[in-house]
Amino acid sequence: MDISVVIPLYNEEESLPELSAWIKRVMDANGFTYEVLFIDDGSTDRSLDVIRKLAAADDHIHAVSFSRNYGKSPALDTGFRRAKGDVVITMDADLQDSPDEIPELYRMIREEGYDLVSGWKKKRYDPLSKTLPTKLFNATARKVSGIKNLHDFNCGLKAYRNAVVKHIEVYGDMHRYIPYLAKNAGYTKIGEKVVHHQARKYGHTKFGLDRFVNGYLDLGTLWFQSKFGVKPMHIFGLLGSLMFLIGFLAVLVVLVLKVISMNSDTYHFYVTKSVYFYLSLAAMVMGLQFFLSGFIGELITRNSPERNNYLIAEEI
Ligand code: UDP
Ligand code: MG
Repeated sequence: MDISVVIPLYNEEESLPELSAWIKRVMDANGFTYEVLFIDDGSTDRSLDVIRKLAAADDHIHAVSFSRNYGKSPALDTGFRRAKGDVVITMDADLQDSPDEIPELYRMIREEGYDLVSGWKKKRYDPLSKTLPTKLFNATARKVSGIKNLHDFNCGLKAYRNAVVKHIEVYGDMHRYIPYLAKNAGYTKIGEKVVHHQARKYGHTKFGLDRFVNGYLDLGTLWFQSKFGVKPMHIFGLLGSLMFLIGFLAVLVVLVLKVISMNSDTYHFYVTKSVYFYLSLAAMVMGLQFFLSGFIGELITRNSPERNNYLIAEEI
């Protein structure tokens, strides 16, 4: 099978018939063998009924329906587990992404050898409250992930080699950083294609402004994981040692001041009145805590199924 189209959706009943007819037009015109996987993320409108009807009329259409709304990431992950096509294409269900992009995305994966091609909504039809923070967000993501050529990490329209989607796990809200997940799994040939974007035709966006706060926190998590995920002591041990050193120096200063003040009759040094005393206390307690965090992190890592899940690209 050439292509699997994975479409996560949450309350998009109006868009679905139009979207599947459009995909069918493109697939037939290009002679692709394909499947469409709708992942209904616990919709409370009539989306599931609409999908049932579409699937009954067209063998290419398959669907999975969650018992409740879990989020876009689990929906994508479910589609990824099931996708059979050589190339996997994800797109949003709200008609903001255009199925007309599919043939070129497919070609870039098959002929230009990309592992992942991300859409770039260069001309974007969304409110300014969304486009402006998104620019900042992408600049940070580029810096942290080291994927310097991507402008639009979170574009819903993306294409993958099948092996890529089988070797990454999209959980929580990590769909924003799939290129970073792919890179961490060793799939570094990541490209970009400018794609047409349209204003939402029906319904409304499912994400609020909290997306930006959570987005940054998730980026921190991914960075931490990729750097120290299986060796937490390397960061906590360092911080702990630094803190301990600061505490130790502060104690030395306290001692020296005490000794000096004993020999002079003009100056009486009180330990508890010295800033160094409090500095040493704070630093030593923090140092100890960092160390303990490191040890606990190491113990968790040692027992985690992730500790040795490297991916072998080739054996000779
Ligand atoms: N979506 C989903 N689960 C959610 C939220 C969104 O499956 O909990 C789907 C949604 O139906 C759409 C896609 O994810 O197909 C992108 O969502 P949306 O269009 O609301 O995001 P935006 O375009 O505003 O960034
Ligand atoms: Mg949308």
